[in-house]
Amino acid sequence: MSYYRLLVVSHAVDTGGAERGIIRKLRNIDRDMFEPSFACPCEGPVTHELEKLGINIYSGHPSKRLLDVRRRSLGENRLAIALYPLAFLASVVRLTQLIRREKFDLVVTESAKANIYGTLAGWLARRPVVNQIHDIFEAPVFSDLNLWLVKTVASHFASRIISNSEASKRALVDLGVPRDKIHTVYYGIDMEIARNTRKAADVRMELGIDPDAPVAGMVGRLVDWKGPDYFIRAAAKVAETVTGARFLMVGDAVHGEKSYVDTLKSLCGELGMADRIVFTGFRDDVLDIVSAMDVMVHASVLPEPFGLVLIEAMAEGRPVVATKGGGVPEVVEDGVTGLLVPPRDVEAMAEAITTILGDRKRAAEMGAAGLKRVSELFTVEEMARGMEREMLKALEGR
Ligand code: UDP
Repeated sequence: MSYYRLLVVSHAVDTGGAERGIIRKLRNIDRDMFEPSFACPCEGPVTHELEKLGINIYSGHPSKRLLDVRRRSLGENRLAIALYPLAFLASVVRLTQLIRREKFDLVVTESAKANIYGTLAGWLARRPVVNQIHDIFEAPVFSDLNLWLVKTVASHFASRIISNSEASKRALVDLGVPRDKIHTVYYGIDMEIARNTRKAADVRMELGIDPDAPVAGMVGRLVDWKGPDYFIRAAAKVAETVTGARFLMVGDAVHGEKSYVDTLKSLCGELGMADRIVFTGFRDDVLDIVSAMDVMVHASVLPEPFGLVLIEAMAEGRPVVATKGGGVPEVVEDGVTGLLVPPRDVEAMAEAITTILGDRKRAAEMGAAGLKRVSELFTVEEMARGMEREMLKALEGR
């Protein structure tokens, strides 16, 4: 059997949805066929998990200093602007040398920044490169320069591209990346882990929630585009009509923006919801918590490229209320596995949550349909096979 040395490149080592995807894929790809290593700027939760899988880590690609330079800071520092392209180039060259020295057969880039520097390095080392796309590349979320870079690198230097939804694929095609290079492979979840969650009653007790209370919860980074404030406002409306309803906010603000949590808590106070909403902070037992909810709410105000939390809820047999945009309609079947509502529409969100909380039979049916859909379409096995398929095609095209 063939045996390929694979270098996965990412600039992100915290555990967001995309990074979880890296761990899940590398845990599940055929290790008789691919021997993975991981290149990243520094250690973090992702490298710790990958080390447990016996995967080699190459830190310092690129240097953390290079990543720390933000556009805003560049704007204030002319010397940094002048030197940035050089520093960037030096990083690409160092990665190229690593690929050659360690005789990697194939490079997979796993983050928006790595799609640029990793692809150029792989191309310079004359190795096939597969770009994994986790974002919907469009303005105004990404700058014109960023979009131009993504388009140019994906079109001319990457061998194949994996998009995480048809929505993220469409955005690339609209940018001008050749359609036939891009194939969608959906994120997946480990159904075995999803089946083995703690008892909902125990989780509720730990969170101070009555076993019979109707519970709606949101899971995700507390950043404004995920819409936590819309969820809080909708929760306040639901609380007016659903007796005893409680709400969960699962997740934390991102590094450097911790004050956003205080803003959200003040909003709860203003709306008289302080006693009704539990802020759990970051949890590494999301599946347990989701299985203790009656409905999970996804409130993103921008198009969500995929939304891992959606399949996590569905894998726990929970119906979802989600804002319609990006890849969400590919994941949630409206009216069947959950209810889709327009983004930024507090009334519609509250109504959908109230409908599900008020009809246990329908909620159970939607939950069951969601579980079936995840088992058929969104498993780690499917995700890993999709990645292997694209990697083999890239190798064939060498
Ligand atoms: N998550 C977590 N703990 C938390 C909040 C979120 O582990 O307290 C996980 C969540 O279960 C999911 C991921 O973070 O696996 C978020 O992925 P998603 O695709 O929904 O959003 P992203 O953060 O990638 O935009």
